[in-house]
Amino acid sequence: MNVYGPVPSRRLGYSLGVDIISFKECTFDCIYCQLGPTTQKTIRRKKYFSSKEILSEIKEKLASGQRIDYITFSGSGEPSLNLNLGKLIGEIKKITNIPVAVLSNGSLLSRKSVRKDLLAADLVVPSLDAAAQETFAKTNRAHSSLKLDEIIGGFERFRQEFKGSIWLEIMLVKGVNDSLSHLRRLKEAIVKIKPDKIHLNTVVRPPAEKFARPLSLNELEKIKKIFGKNSEIIAEFDRKAQKPSSENLEKAILSMIQRRPVTLSDITISLGVHKNEVIKYLNFLLEEGNIRTSTHKGLEYYEPR
Ligand code: SF4
Repeated sequence: MNVYGPVPSRRLGYSLGVDIISFKECTFDCIYCQLGPTTQKTIRRKKYFSSKEILSEIKEKLASGQRIDYITFSGSGEPSLNLNLGKLIGEIKKITNIPVAVLSNGSLLSRKSVRKDLLAADLVVPSLDAAAQETFAKTNRAHSSLKLDEIIGGFERFRQEFKGSIWLEIMLVKGVNDSLSHLRRLKEAIVKIKPDKIHLNTVVRPPAEKFARPLSLNELEKIKKIFGKNSEIIAEFDRKAQKPSSENLEKAILSMIQRRPVTLSDITISLGVHKNEVIKYLNFLLEEGNIRTSTHKGLEYYEPR
C-alpha cells in the first residue's frame, strides 16, 4: 500500500499521501524525525515500487469521491530518492487537476535530474534546518557525501527554474540550531533561495532522539521576527491537532493500545493501514491525553495513559 488518506493537514487541507520510498530510507537521519531512526541512509536514486500500481491506487482514491485538496508525495523517507518521481507526477497530471505537492528534505536538489523531476509539481515543501556545516551535522546527520553548501546551491538553482510555489520549512531544535548567530546565517541563505513562504516548526511530535527538544511558542515568535513577513509558525503545540477523519480507525487504534502496549509497526501490520496515517491518529490521541509513549529495549511503545 503506497497511497493513504486523504488525511487532514493544516497546510494542505485534505491531503492524499503517496509514499514511494521503503520505510526510513533517507539521505538524512534527523534527530527530530518522528518516524524514528533512519534504517538505510543512502543517496542512490533507484526504482522502488511499481508506478502502475501506485497510479491505480491513486485512481481508486480519486474515484471514491472523497475531498482531496492536494496529492502529496511524502511518507516514509526522502521521496526524491525514487527515480520514478518525475514520471509519476507527470502521470498524475494526466488524470486530475488536483495540485501535486512534494515534501522533501531538499538534499538532492543539487542534482539536475532531481530538479527536473520536481519541476512538474505545483508545490515543493523542502526543509532547511542549518546554514553551518557543524549545525547541519548535528541536526540532520546526513549521508557523508552530502555537503551543506552544495545543498543550498541546489535550492537556489531550483528556485530559478521552478515556476510553482516553494514553502521552506525550518525545524528548530532547542540548543541545536536556534542560536541567534546561526539563525542570522540561515536567514542570509534563505534570502538567496527566495521561498514563497517560510514555515517555522519545532519538535512537537515524539522525536527519533530524546535529546531533541522543542522551543516554546514565545521563542518561536521571537524567531519569526528574524525571518520577516513571509514566515509563519506551523508547530501545532498551541492548538489541538486536527481530528483525523475516520472514527472507526481511531477507535481500532485506541482499543489495540488499551489491550497491551504496542509499537507503530504492530498497529500498521495488524490494521493494514499506512504508517503515516496511523501517526496522524497517534499524534491526535497523544495530544488529547488518551495515550502516552514509553521506551523498552530501544523500541517506542504506545500505552493507555
Ligand atoms: S529528512 Fe525527513 S524522513 Fe529523513 S530523517 Fe529527516 S525528518 Fe526523517
